[in-house]
Amino acid sequence: MFDKILIANRGEIALRVIRACREMGIASVAVHSTADSDAMHVRMADESICIGPPAASASYLSIPGIMAACEISGAQAIHPGYGFLSENANFVQIVEDHGLTFIGPTAEHIRIMGDKITAKDTMRKLGVPCVPGSEGGVATLDEAQRIGDEIGYPVIIKATAGGGGKGMKVAQSAADLERAFQTARAEGKSNFGNDEVYIEKYLATPRHIEIQVFGDGRGGAVHLGERDCSLQRRHQKVFEEAPGPSISAEERARIGKVCADAIAKINYIGAGTIEFLYEHGEFYFIEMNTRLQVEHPVTEAIFGVDLVREQIRVAEGLPMSFGQDDLTINGHAIEVRINAERLPNFSPCPGRITQYHAPGGLGVRMDSALYDGYSIPPYYDSLIGKLIVHGRDRPEALARLHRALGELIVDGVDTTVPLFHALLQEPDIQSGNYNIHWLEHWLETNLADG
Ligand code: ADP
Repeated sequence: MFDKILIANRGEIALRVIRACREMGIASVAVHSTADSDAMHVRMADESICIGPPAASASYLSIPGIMAACEISGAQAIHPGYGFLSENANFVQIVEDHGLTFIGPTAEHIRIMGDKITAKDTMRKLGVPCVPGSEGGVATLDEAQRIGDEIGYPVIIKATAGGGGKGMKVAQSAADLERAFQTARAEGKSNFGNDEVYIEKYLATPRHIEIQVFGDGRGGAVHLGERDCSLQRRHQKVFEEAPGPSISAEERARIGKVCADAIAKINYIGAGTIEFLYEHGEFYFIEMNTRLQVEHPVTEAIFGVDLVREQIRVAEGLPMSFGQDDLTINGHAIEVRINAERLPNFSPCPGRITQYHAPGGLGVRMDSALYDGYSIPPYYDSLIGKLIVHGRDRPEALARLHRALGELIVDGVDTTVPLFHALLQEPDIQSGNYNIHWLEHWLETNLADG
């Protein structure tokens, strides 16, 4: 059993992990940059260690810095949160080579899922439905043209090392293919040092549906249903809900079982998310994230489980505390991501918080590292809080979200809260009728600059 865990992260997710540790009677160690000396995660942890200057590359991404902090504090395990080093197979290897435990999957699983071609190939072989397209990488324009003709246009060219929406180009027709092919390759090369690309059919109006899975590392696995994260701006999720308004109990059971069986076969350990595009009743795998997701609280709300506690348990070698039959959905949950950004351009808006008041009451959870007088540093991402609401059904969750947003006070910086007030007035949001393009279109019409 662990008695001390180091958290290689900051912000709300570091708090999230510290809270789980405290409930389990495990001491927590925060690491921080010099820009975060006054941060909430530093205040809340049992111990803290400064690991470097503000730039993430020299602090939160510094493997030597984090390993030294483990050594100094005597932590036996590292929870990586999300982002930063959470999907860095090399880091996992180093942690294990030092006789410490990485709270997450193995380096091998991270490596497989981190390369999109290998991930898709692995998933296809495990029986997970994938988007029609090339089998593996496409080396030449000729080959790309042949596949384009075969699967039909539009197609999307994706860099195998891509991420965060970079290295993906849509070709509407054969005439457009050369441009898309060359641009995706160039972006792959310049952003990720790898120009390998592959081709998929471009789905016109899908929803983004992701399945939460959890494995014990010994062939046992469950699924915790889906989250609909279709409301995205520039491929960044802004509003997530569970269960998905368009998914039936039969579909959930079917795709959930496919996913749980797939990760069971590879002895996956810990939390994972299998992401799909969903169109006309069909699921198409796009990628697997081998970590806790930002939006995990909506799943926790409807299933009444603590996913971080569970991650720690299986990392300790304990069995999962629930089986598939113990997991039943209770009500509906919605999360909105509150960023320190100025509308309409979503430009980052760091600065000093002059007043902060978190909403409360039945079915309301605010995961945030803000406090009165805190200064948001300009060096990291702009997420300052996640507001999660839980109701008996979707209309109650929406009403609760409206009520909770009204209670929230964040003064001193601009935030994306007004966006959510506006979205809640939209009939399509009220009815759950949206796809992955809905928000971009809405923003163009309603929030156009100038
Ligand atoms: P990243 O790792 O950059 O997030 P993904 O493969 O997860 O890349 O794709 C990101 C987003 O791009 C998806 O959520 C979806 O909006 C869009 N996308 C990806 N593949 C397709 C496709 N075949 N058809 C339509 N849209 C796609």
